[in-house]
Amino acid sequence: MSKVRHVLGISGGKDSAALAIYVKTKYPSIDLEFYTCDTGKELDETYQLIKNLEVYLGIKIELLQGAEKSSEDPFDHFLKMYGGFLPSSNARWCTKKLKLDPFENYVGSDPVISYVGIRGDEEREGYISTKKNIQSIFPFRKNIWSQDVVAKLLANQNMEQLLAMSKNIDFGKNQEKAFQTINRKVDTSFTLDQKLNILLDANVKAFNHLVFDFLKTTDYPLATEATFPLLENDEVLVRDDIFKILEESGVGVPAYYNKIEFEVNGKKGEYARSRSGCFFCFFQQKIEWVWLYEQHPDLYKKAMEYEKDGYTWGQFESLEELIQPERMEKIKEEYIKRMEKKSKAKSPYLVDILDDVEGEGCAACFV
Ligand code: SF4
Repeated sequence: MSKVRHVLGISGGKDSAALAIYVKTKYPSIDLEFYTCDTGKELDETYQLIKNLEVYLGIKIELLQGAEKSSEDPFDHFLKMYGGFLPSSNARWCTKKLKLDPFENYVGSDPVISYVGIRGDEEREGYISTKKNIQSIFPFRKNIWSQDVVAKLLANQNMEQLLAMSKNIDFGKNQEKAFQTINRKVDTSFTLDQKLNILLDANVKAFNHLVFDFLKTTDYPLATEATFPLLENDEVLVRDDIFKILEESGVGVPAYYNKIEFEVNGKKGEYARSRSGCFFCFFQQKIEWVWLYEQHPDLYKKAMEYEKDGYTWGQFESLEELIQPERMEKIKEEYIKRMEKKSKAKSPYLVDILDDVEGEGCAACFV
């Protein structure tokens, strides 16, 4: 069997950038490979972030592209293939062709541990490859293991095996509690999540060792590793920690997160872009389109040029309609109202207020 590869994908967003810094500096013994899947349509800030990371960490970030032999940008190449049919949240061919396929080609059939920057304060699971040779690990969360691993580990039919294994694991003062929890079947009155959380609360490191021992009996990539430094990881990192890592390292937070003031009919508001990804990404909110139009008019114009033959980025209006003065005023006013209701947050980053946007969208693009 080939040696297990440890790979970390940089999406261009803050979380994966912070993860690269975190894992590389905290666990230098891990032989990490870094990659980014380039759509050819990212904001300049994303390319700058990648350069900053390379310099700060002294690493090479492998640039992966779908349709690498094409003379066009990857997105344009596939758009042509799809006959001009723009991707949308219901037909996300872009994620598959520009992110997932290049990544899966890159790792091939090698056993791979893929590090994913989903934070401890997020509910989403992130991209989990369905390929058996790719195992995802989430270092920012209390539970670093993927759902499929947990489901297998805590399945009722594995209870006896787990009980036997747990005898060799030191849960400290919570030994008895851990033992009783492992010995309790999952059913309608005791869910898998409850069981998982009790064991994590009992002792995170001990739980990690239990999972690692269990994995030895499976064909997951980690089964062949003699040790795994993240077993000793019991830190949980949330949004503030991410900004702190980026700022303190000097790598910096991508400039598109910075709030910019605007005024509409005597009222003041602040806008920014909330995440990485293609400049025309259909997941962005109306106010982000306005931000793009006012802060990067050239990119907005390019996004407009894609709207033809009846295809538009948004479901209910075209980009041309969106920038009519009355429409933009309305978008801004509604946005100000929404912001006023939401929070009086002191953070310099709007993403702290716009937290609902983070759970949506593409976990391969916005990490
Ligand atoms: S950022 Fe948006 S448009 Fe670009 S590949 Fe991801 S989902 Fe598609």
